[in-house]
Amino acid sequence: QKKELVSLKDAPTVSSDGFEVELGANIGSPKDAVSALENGAEAIGLFRTEFLYMGRDSFPTEEQQFEIYSEVLKRMGSKPTVVRTLDIGGDKELSYLDLPKELNPFLGLRAIRLCLEMPDLFRTQLRALIRSSVHGNLKIMFPMIATLEEFRQAKQLFLEEQEKMATEGIPFSEKIEVGIMVEIPSTAVMADVFAKEVDFFSIGTNDLIQYTLAADRMNENVAHLYQPFNPAILRMVKMVIDAAHKEGKWAGMCGEMAGEELAVPVLLGLGLDEFSMSASSILKTRSMISGLSKTEMEKHTDHILSLSTAEDVKNYITQMLKK
Ligand code: PEP
Ligand code: MG
Repeated sequence: QKKELVSLKDAPTVSSDGFEVELGANIGSPKDAVSALENGAEAIGLFRTEFLYMGRDSFPTEEQQFEIYSEVLKRMGSKPTVVRTLDIGGDKELSYLDLPKELNPFLGLRAIRLCLEMPDLFRTQLRALIRSSVHGNLKIMFPMIATLEEFRQAKQLFLEEQEKMATEGIPFSEKIEVGIMVEIPSTAVMADVFAKEVDFFSIGTNDLIQYTLAADRMNENVAHLYQPFNPAILRMVKMVIDAAHKEGKWAGMCGEMAGEELAVPVLLGLGLDEFSMSASSILKTRSMISGLSKTEMEKHTDHILSLSTAEDVKNYITQMLKK
């Protein structure tokens, strides 16, 4: 079993009927990129950059960030590396950043909201990223986008920094894709509009489920409402994938759901292009996909999306996989 999995390490991820998808790893540090590759990652689907800012007493400098991003990009070579800009706030605090106490931090000033509020902080990260782009295949992703204006503003800051660097004679790649996480229901619903302007989507189900069902992802009292298989979630996932494809863009998923045994067949059927998960799940997911027919899975998606409850969905998938 183990040996069979290891033989898949350098293999592409192909369904039994010949459709290829990409399996990426979620990482939090350059060290993680090593184990991502050891575990057969074809990409980094999510580099959470929070760690660079945490466990210290001041903001990391452009230079310090440049070193770290470059290290990851060099390690990954031509493999796509999606770096998510700072997603601080909510449960993640910085000792040196005195933010106002909020009643509902998860609905408050966090992630891209904070970055747009503190543009100097954001520009520093963008500059470090843009500079590092010469070392690999960089894609930049903004977290917690709720409105198109937020994306436009963030993209504008990115373009301004790129322009400055061009005049300063600092080299960078002209091909950096800029995309967003879809983890707020408004953005999932408006995916067709976003798809005209973003280069890609990555669905963050950890937050998308929390915000759609209004169930705190950490709160055990409402854990029964935290439902990845609720048809509402699956319908949104479909909207996002279809919207991306209509504009010739790609759609990935970097929430926990992307590596779940019952979810993968459905996501394959819905046409997800990239699955990003913890490194330890990659090989078994590749093995599972090699035994699934995408065409077969597609035949079930309309029915799955018409079901009424998460329980119904899970039961249906379980039966479907037995056949
Ligand atoms: C998500 O929300 O699904 C996600 C991948 O981001 P995080 O878990 O860091 O919030
Ligand atoms: Mg999130």
